[in-house]
Amino acid sequence: MNPATSTQKLSGWGRFRTGSCHVFRPEKRSEVAAALASGEQSTYIPRGLGRSYGDASLNENGGVIWPIRLNRFLSFDDSTGEIECESGVSLAEILEFFLPRGWFLPVSPGTKFVTVGGAIAADIHGKNHHRDGTFSNFVQSLELLTPAGELLRCTPANNSEIFWATAGGMGLTGVILSARLRLRQVDSTNVFVDYYKAVNLEDALDKMETSDARYDYSVAWIDALSTGKALGRCILMSGNHAPASELPSRARKLPPGTGNGAAVSTRPKWNLLADFPSGTLNQLTVKAFNAVYYAIHSTAPRQLVSFEKFFYPLDAIDNWNRMYGKDGFVQYQIALPQASGREGLRVVLDRLARSGCASFLAVLKRFGEAGPGLLSFPLHGYTLALDIPVRRGLIPFLHELDRMTLDHGGRVYLAKDAVLRPEDFAAMYPKLDSFRSIQRRLDPKRLFSSSLARRLKILD
Ligand SMILES: Cc1cc2nc3c(=O)[nH]c(=O)nc-3n(C[C@H](O)[C@H](O)[C@H](O)COP(=O)(O)OP(=O)(O)OC[C@H]3O[C@@H](n4cnc5c(N)ncnc54)[C@H](O)[C@@H]3O)c2cc1C
Repeated sequence: MNPATSTQKLSGWGRFRTGSCHVFRPEKRSEVAAALASGEQSTYIPRGLGRSYGDASLNENGGVIWPIRLNRFLSFDDSTGEIECESGVSLAEILEFFLPRGWFLPVSPGTKFVTVGGAIAADIHGKNHHRDGTFSNFVQSLELLTPAGELLRCTPANNSEIFWATAGGMGLTGVILSARLRLRQVDSTNVFVDYYKAVNLEDALDKMETSDARYDYSVAWIDALSTGKALGRCILMSGNHAPASELPSRARKLPPGTGNGAAVSTRPKWNLLADFPSGTLNQLTVKAFNAVYYAIHSTAPRQLVSFEKFFYPLDAIDNWNRMYGKDGFVQYQIALPQASGREGLRVVLDRLARSGCASFLAVLKRFGEAGPGLLSFPLHGYTLALDIPVRRGLIPFLHELDRMTLDHGGRVYLAKDAVLRPEDFAAMYPKLDSFRSIQRRLDPKRLFSSSLARRLKILD
């Protein structure tokens, strides 16, 4: 066995799916190609910072290429905000260096501890999807080492079909070695946020429909245990980057491009050192939390909020996933189309509230137009994300929600999934055949696979 390879039990962020994997950590780009050509493992999958929740970055009894040491910035153009970096660079590292210089991420998930490679492979979305689409919209080019060992430069215009199979392709088209992205110019680290307390789902969705166009970012925390007339009551948070000219003097200013901005620390403040006892997050505790959270928020316009609090509230606590106990949890995220989405959300939330499954963190967003990624998740409409502790009966219950999602024309997000069945997956992703034929061309010897790919028969 190569000395840089070790056998490790890995999991996704939900700690529910685990796998014993042969992990290879390359220090140089040339070592990635050497590992793939070595014949040591029969299959490989790349892994980033392991923030996908299920088994996307696991390869049970197979090889995992973990290129997090390939994390150098390669170039930056301060007239356009274009950065080229290796794929193991994390979004936190980009923020740490570039935010004080007046540049922010064009699309940001709810954690900054994801790599550029993982962000492209899941074609992630942020609170600005209704305006800006997914992360890959801002990727100008990427370098892909294919399973056959070929190095390809892909852009939306050149090798375009490989580009759009790789964006959202969950690591199955090869290892992304580097990418060129466009950052967004900002002149403060703060966001002006309008809070709106919605009495129920209809109220929240009406408000989103009429107001989202005015905001860069929009997201709602939703009380997934509320029922009856209060079903889906929410706190809607809609925000725009705060212009420096409108900030009170105590707030930090960042003269764009000057490098004079104050340092930005992206390290967690606290660490959860041990697992909570299983069952700590149950219907009772979550109900109490939800009641307090809903009560302490009120409709309040133009609140000045730091970027950490607005974009990454959970990042303040390292290992917060231990809150769910050693059995872990599943994040269940669905997208529903505009036409049937309201009804679909109502049906799913109603079933959830009656099930006794308490979702501690539930988030609702609107999606803009779907992008060209063949396996990309977003579709024009709505998305709901639920964090549910693992307990007996959870899997059949989630299969029931899968059915409701399908009945309403929706789909489950692969970066979060841990339980979907192959037939439901195939019905949810209509461009699967196109993805398979491109993947087959890139990987004639079937060298790439993952626990997710086998569970869902993505490559069959
Ligand atoms: C708290 C939290 C909040 C989140 N919020 C959001 C959100 O708002 N929106 C959203 O879209 N997602 C969200 N996510 C999910 C997360 O953004 C994605 O799962 C992302 O892919 C994780 O990146 P990673 O670097 O950890 O990759 P991993 O989880 O390690 O891998 C994810 C996928 O990327 C592939 N991959 C990784 N590196 C490479 C590479 N170099 N080349 C090719 N393929 C590669 C892997 O094979 C795997 O299929 C959230 C996750 C957490 C924990």
